[in-house]
Amino acid sequence: MFKNINGISVGFIFLIQVIFASDVYQSVRVFNPTSETLEIVGKAGIPLDHISGKKGYFIDVTSTEDQTIFLISHGINIEILIPNMTQHYRKRNIPSSSREFPLGSMMGNYTLDELNDRFDELQAAYPEIISERVILGQSVEGRDIWAFKVSDNPEEDEDEPEVLFTSLTHAREPVGMMNLIYFVQLLGENYGTDSELTFLVNEREIWFIPIVNPDGYVYNETIQPSGGGMHRKNRLDTNCGNDTGRGVDLNRNYSYGWGANNTGSSPDPCSAVYRGDSAFSEPETQSVRDFVIDHEFMNVMHYHTYTNVYIHAFGDASLPDEPDLTTHRDIGNEMARYNGYPVGTGFELIGYTVNGDAVDWSFGDQELVAFTPEVGSYSQGFWPSEDDILSLCEDQVHPNKIFSFVAGADLILVEAEFGQNFYYAGNDFELEFEIQNRGLTDLNQEIQIEILPLNDWAIIPQSNYVINGLNARESGEINVGVSLAIDAQNGFFTGLIVSIESPGTFTRQDTINILIGEPEILFFDGFENGISNWYVTGDWGLTTDASTGDYAMSDSPNGDYDEGQESVAEIEIELNLSNLSIPTVTFTAFWDIESNWDFVRFQADVDGLGWVSLAGNFTESGSGQPAQPIDEPGYDGLQEDWVSETVDLDQLDNSQISGFRFIQTSDNYVGGNGFTVDNFTISGFQLGTMGDFNFDNSVNIYDVLGIADLMLFGGDANSSQLEFCDFNENGILDLDDLLSILNLIIGQI
Ligand SMILES: [Zn+2]
Repeated sequence: MFKNINGISVGFIFLIQVIFASDVYQSVRVFNPTSETLEIVGKAGIPLDHISGKKGYFIDVTSTEDQTIFLISHGINIEILIPNMTQHYRKRNIPSSSREFPLGSMMGNYTLDELNDRFDELQAAYPEIISERVILGQSVEGRDIWAFKVSDNPEEDEDEPEVLFTSLTHAREPVGMMNLIYFVQLLGENYGTDSELTFLVNEREIWFIPIVNPDGYVYNETIQPSGGGMHRKNRLDTNCGNDTGRGVDLNRNYSYGWGANNTGSSPDPCSAVYRGDSAFSEPETQSVRDFVIDHEFMNVMHYHTYTNVYIHAFGDASLPDEPDLTTHRDIGNEMARYNGYPVGTGFELIGYTVNGDAVDWSFGDQELVAFTPEVGSYSQGFWPSEDDILSLCEDQVHPNKIFSFVAGADLILVEAEFGQNFYYAGNDFELEFEIQNRGLTDLNQEIQIEILPLNDWAIIPQSNYVINGLNARESGEINVGVSLAIDAQNGFFTGLIVSIESPGTFTRQDTINILIGEPEILFFDGFENGISNWYVTGDWGLTTDASTGDYAMSDSPNGDYDEGQESVAEIEIELNLSNLSIPTVTFTAFWDIESNWDFVRFQADVDGLGWVSLAGNFTESGSGQPAQPIDEPGYDGLQEDWVSETVDLDQLDNSQISGFRFIQTSDNYVGGNGFTVDNFTISGFQLGTMGDFNFDNSVNIYDVLGIADLMLFGGDANSSQLEFCDFNENGILDLDDLLSILNLIIGQI
């Protein structure tokens, strides 16, 4: 019903605007996106590389007013979400000033002149690591396309792995360039102090092409001097007038798969995805091509905005062969460790195909590991608010570092395999360590692995191990023997510090924790006796789809969860976390929840705070959509098989907890099989039992002997021992306290 009403208002809006404005860009929701619909969207010349939506229901695209009219006149059911995007970007812009990182005058982004000034400034400040400009060629309108290098001895071509970053291929995507300048400034400021950044400068040649499409960018400056310009292509005169219709889409002009079909690019010179007369017809793409061919890059990142994803080849939806696919996914997932960007082909992530783009050529033709990051969320769009720029730049620091590391050999501890979850004092056992060269360059040097104990409770018979080199992406294993000391205390961790070292690689250190003693099960519910422990709303109930036993609990035991609802399964449990060491909730679960739109969160009812969402090993951050509160941890997407989830309650510090709940939230449109949980367990080590001198979770004769020992042979009790054994509170442990413990033990019998 509402769609029809919108259909009427749509017509009204466009009538007014078509009279007063030209080249107005809109955010438009296209309903029922069948292949026929998408063909018309493509024919309208609307790029499909920045869409969001709901599979089968709608997609949201950026179109000019004329393109919107085209859609309406072809009977496409649409709703205009934002009638004028430039106005929208300007209206919501919140200024920001940052002395540490000076922003530019176009909603925080540098104009071309400001970029030039900023570069000169940085180059003058750090000439020992930033090269002069290298001119690669000239744009259609004769502007320089330039690159520069960050490395020690920047004017020399040293024998170091090379990596390339490019940005502003599309003229309305300036945050790609901002993030690179931010990264360069960081490299300059921290060279000599930060060990990772110093290593990268010394051992890599990091190249940047900050602006592939200067003409398009200057055109945006001309039409919207304070930001918000929506021109995408270069400025070749393609007989489409002077406005944003003119030009070639540089990211459809590369040779790999060029012009393979008319959906991934367009032969229409006025389309936003016009691929040009022939592959590499444009001086801008020629400049990038020649520069790449001239160098020995291992990997290249072509920055775009927006959608918060890392896209790799291929644009036609086919996948790279192994091991290249795994290489891209591993590196991409490591880049996304903190920003959570999904990694995949454009088709997997957004549902569109392209041909002739830079990533396909870089990988398919030049055999480089290559990504297109699309930086920023759908709501941030092409021109995020100025006060978002800095955090968008910061989000890419880790990815840029990782991408630079992997250009060379890069050693990491991938995995430490434990035989069991915990060990007892006095145990001897072996841990298997997998060490990988996750980088793209072979390493022919000896790799030294040194293992040190985290504290006195771990004893390591052999602390030095050697692996004789690892080729790119190859792994090696070592087995490390460990003994736990007799006096290792239950309820605490010991561990190993593992450092991995080889000439020319960055030395990394990891800490492996080893849990001492068996945690006490404080609560367990396997749902074998129903769900009477739980207060539920909505459809939460028993299911026979169990992980162990006959039953588990599900938010929708009889099919899919409902649209547009909130339902809970809640349990009252009093827990004082200050009395527990290593308090942990574990459960087994599987789920099918619409990604980015619907959610299941696991929460604790915390004194003074209310319900707090808890992070576990499998949680993702909320997307900000109505049913996914932004940045709150929760479960979505598809987890087909049962997994064991662990939620560390130390994230709540020493709070008092009065309950837990699973809360399911969904928006309209799409449902799913939902969330199923089994073997809900709360465990930990009770701290501070009065009389427990040796902290083994029980009060017995050993505690008496411990105190007697102390009294007979001297020595000081530690503060915890005093707290829990000094019954007469005189500040020392004496006969009086010993008798109190004996009484306690006799009382227990
Ligand atoms: Zn782009």
